Amino acid sequence: MSEPSAFGLTPIGHIASPFKQKFAIPRQPALANARGSVRLTPPFNDANCLRGIETYSHLWLLFLFHENLEKGWTPTVRAPRLGGNNRIGVFASRSTFRPNGIGMSVVKNLGAEQLNGQWQLNVGGIDLLNGTPVIDIKPYLPYSDNVTDAEAHLLDEHPLPAREVHFTKQATAQLSAQPHSDLQALIIQCLSQDPRPAYRQSQDNDPKTYQVIFYDRDIQWVVQNGKVLVTSLEQVC
Ligand code: SAM
Repeated sequence: MSEPSAFGLTPIGHIASPFKQKFAIPRQPALANARGSVRLTPPFNDANCLRGIETYSHLWLLFLFHENLEKGWTPTVRAPRLGGNNRIGVFASRSTFRPNGIGMSVVKNLGAEQLNGQWQLNVGGIDLLNGTPVIDIKPYLPYSDNVTDAEAHLLDEHPLPAREVHFTKQATAQLSAQPHSDLQALIIQCLSQDPRPAYRQSQDNDPKTYQVIFYDRDIQWVVQNGKVLVTSLEQVC
């Protein structure tokens, strides 16, 4: 007898994140110190659900890749980390296009608080889009989850890019006039990983100007002489 084809999933809350679009979000958690929160929705908006969570430094977030759910999945995927040309099995990947669209990230627990009647769990090191539906939270258990002899051979052969990031005078002035104290660090951490499509990443002088939104800032940047140059940060209307 085949299994039922669908199980109901109810989001327990949603992510509030500085990342307003998928482009330039780090490929995994902890690759940038991006802070956000899980905002709990009823009936999970209950202090009892969080009792004892402060005793854990890190948490697993299980969530839905909600922006890609309608695009479905394929048995093999192009892995951007591997240059984008080699296809690997979906179950050998952390692709966002997968059966059931479930993602998982280990994040830092920055504490729970109640704001205007809503409980939120503040978290650090997120790789999640603003508005991502969270389907569960579980404590990270170092005695079991920390696999010290784990290996990832394919990825070892393809280290993350590490480009220098610089700011024009205009961008520096715009940075000092905006309110997000961690924005400069976030830009450096995310753009140093060169989020351009894999086929562009070998270009040290790229004629294209790229754009990404962190918080409420529209950040324009280019790659010149092998370095990322941030040219402006305009406030999004
Ligand atoms: N750590 C998770 C995992 O392994 O399941 C996510 C890894 S996935 C490769 C990370 C990428 O997912 C990010 O770079 C971002 O572009 C994308 N992403 C984040 N939140 C998303 C969402 N709600 N819907 C679709 N894509 C999302």
